Amino acid sequence: MATRQSLPEIQTKLFIDGQWVEGTMDKKAVINPATGEELVQVSQGGKEETNKAIEAAKKAFPVWSGMELKERVAILHKVADLIEENADRLALIMTLEQGKPLKEAKGEIKTDVENMHWNAEEARRVYGETIPAPNNHKFEVKKQPIGVVGAITPWNFPSNMIIRKISPAISAGCTVVLKPAGNTPLSAIAIFELFEKAGLPKGVANLVMGSASEIGEAFAESSDVRKLTFTGSTEVGQLLYEQSGQTLKKISLELGGHAPFIVFKDAPIQQTIDALVAMKFRNNGQACTAPNRIFVEEPIKKEFTEKLVKAVGEVTVGNGQDDVTVGPLINEEARETIDAQITDAKEKGAEVLIGGGRLDEGEYKDGFFYQPTVIDGVTTEMDIFYEETFGPVIPLIFFNDEDQAIQLANDSHFGLASYVFTKDLRLAEKVSTELEYGLVGVNNTGVSQSETPFGGVKYSGLGRENGKHGIEEFQEVKFVHTTYFTEN
Ligand code: ADP
Repeated sequence: MATRQSLPEIQTKLFIDGQWVEGTMDKKAVINPATGEELVQVSQGGKEETNKAIEAAKKAFPVWSGMELKERVAILHKVADLIEENADRLALIMTLEQGKPLKEAKGEIKTDVENMHWNAEEARRVYGETIPAPNNHKFEVKKQPIGVVGAITPWNFPSNMIIRKISPAISAGCTVVLKPAGNTPLSAIAIFELFEKAGLPKGVANLVMGSASEIGEAFAESSDVRKLTFTGSTEVGQLLYEQSGQTLKKISLELGGHAPFIVFKDAPIQQTIDALVAMKFRNNGQACTAPNRIFVEEPIKKEFTEKLVKAVGEVTVGNGQDDVTVGPLINEEARETIDAQITDAKEKGAEVLIGGGRLDEGEYKDGFFYQPTVIDGVTTEMDIFYEETFGPVIPLIFFNDEDQAIQLANDSHFGLASYVFTKDLRLAEKVSTELEYGLVGVNNTGVSQSETPFGGVKYSGLGRENGKHGIEEFQEVKFVHTTYFTEN
């Protein structure tokens, strides 16, 4: 066992208008999901604090959006550099509060650095347009920052979900109020400490932790918040969409997913399994892009299944500070949801090939651990076919022809990530065109990069993050029509 480290010294307060301030509500404990231990108590607020933060962001907006571009870009790069310098600290904090292995936490921090630098550079490329106009007229399109942004983030990628929202927002010239997930506030605090250190002017980025419903309502009801960006469950996304209707704000929603992973008989089996296992067990399956329904063409059923079970048998589980493939799940509720899906599937005829239950003895006793699992014989009668699985479970479904595979893959409310493995270019083209998903990995699982648009269709949400499409979410388009007087 590697030497385990404890929580480094860290702020525990809200960050509003450049000040660390105590909230008015009772503090909340942050729990280490690998040990069940309390790490620290953090300050909590509600409507009152959120409205103060919105006010601060409103005040800072003309300062930040009007700042000399070079200066703004330099601050953004400085934030990226500080994140890089503090990568080990940020990764440790993440592993302690979220559970993922340190190696993965470091990978997430690396993505933060990339996102920050990429968006910093993109601030220089907010190109407008001129459109051919009648003589003595000019048609011009300007892109301007939308204003104050409210951002709500989840616990599964507690650092990168924040950077993914804040970096394009502030790069566009917006100011932000962030509400991180209740169980992973420390990753947010650690980033805000670096915003402060980098010299981000006061009020540009504000941090409010506390009552989710009060903060969400305050964002939705405020006419000053011109954009709401949310990553989380479809249910909460629907609620925020509805609540935001009154103030007609622009909204981006990155919601649930239930990714199909389609394997055709000509795919190289071991390479495909390696890609599947790596993607599935990343963050212990707690990702909206996790492959959740594995469709395999009948002729390779036996070989694929045997090799998959062997690979899953090699997945190691433990405290994220040790050298393991996966850590615990986030909490007890997460285990209950998975237990319920597996019980339902078994009752309806599915067979557990490996795993299928909790790990709760010995070193696993106080954490929320679960066995890496493969279940065979999954059908559309089972909850697991339609409900998002946020955990280490691989359900296998077999198919006979390409149209059946596409039909089954599209048989979902969700439409975020999808994957297809085949050497046949015609087939890859057909499947990637017909899949009703915002993201398609053909012979790979790399659907998320700083420069490429990320987002879903159907109940997986609205809008895109990353890339130029991600920044556009924080901009308004203004049309300016100028006429030149031709006579004095
Ligand atoms: P998850 O299942 O990933 O926890 P949630 O949608 O519950 O998904 O949480 C994602 C984020 O949304 C978290 O920051 C959470 O605190 C927040 N949240 C939960 N309920 C509400 C709400 N009613 N209004 C606004 N935000 C909410």
